[in-house]
Amino acid sequence: MTRAHLALGSNLGDRLGFLQSAVTALAATPGIEVTGVSRVYETAPVGGPDQGPYLNAVVALKTDLDARQLLAVAQTLEADAGRVRGERWGPRQLDVDVLLVGDERVDSPELTVPHPRLEERGFVLAPLADVAPDLVSPPEGGWAGVEATALVLQPSPQAARSEQRS
Ligand code: ADP
Ligand code: MG
Repeated sequence: MTRAHLALGSNLGDRLGFLQSAVTALAATPGIEVTGVSRVYETAPVGGPDQGPYLNAVVALKTDLDARQLLAVAQTLEADAGRVRGERWGPRQLDVDVLLVGDERVDSPELTVPHPRLEERGFVLAPLADVAPDLVSPPEGGWAGVEATALVLQPSPQAARSEQRS
């Protein structure tokens, strides 16, 4: 099993609902075990057209899938959320990016891993630091414009149910 990290983002519709559905679907995907979910961050859009703020999170996995297979899973989740590919960096119900897949390196037009803009994006680094403190340590004062919210994502449907009971 390989350790991997995916970034989730949403800035259209039921943003938290889209993120939770993605986590739940990942947990139900054969070959994927969700081992951690970051806090949920609210962040201003970077680049692209005028659009609303994002919710961002990072999911930590153990997986038998390789980076290409994870990209296929990511794109299925985006399509299931009703994402229609329009303008680059435009608003979306769900964005799922493959950040890191063990020490795998891929450099093709469809897929670059590690994600090429990882290190310049506070909205990715902040949640990644939550689930992978050995890989990323926050700068003093955190990342500008990236705020943790009180919103919570449940790592699996089982966890969501036991949370309701308690
Ligand atoms: P962005 O995530 O940069 O806002 P999109 O989600 O629209 O943009 O993705 C554009 C393309 O980026 C996708 O069609 C996909 O093939 C490609 N891509 C390259 N590397 C990755 C990666 N590591 N994770 C997700 N998509 C990637
Ligand atoms: Mg993307």
